[in-house]
Amino acid sequence: MNPIKCPKCSSKRTIWRGYRRNRSRDKRLRLCRACGRKFTPDDGYLRMRFKPQIIRKAVGLRKKGFSSAEVRTHLQRYEGAKVSRWTIIKWERRYRKKA
Ligand SMILES: [Zn+2]
Repeated sequence: MNPIKCPKCSSKRTIWRGYRRNRSRDKRLRLCRACGRKFTPDDGYLRMRFKPQIIRKAVGLRKKGFSSAEVRTHLQRYEGAKVSRWTIIKWERRYRKKA
């Protein structure tokens, strides 16, 4: 994994330090040891409309061999999330290595 840079000073000397509570999940905070600033790193999910656990579940089901239509039905039934098949395919391409 690449070192996480401080958005303020671009230092790579950053460490995990605590959590910030969020409506959908707890976000981990990172502290920059160079300038002392705390920040939330962009983990790739920040701009997503759906919760990370839904994305992970979708990618996990695809890995197990379920079709995008089956995954879509599952997410709607058990997670209450309306996700298009195209979105699931996009997630799969983007997050396959992470999930
Ligand atoms: Zn910094």
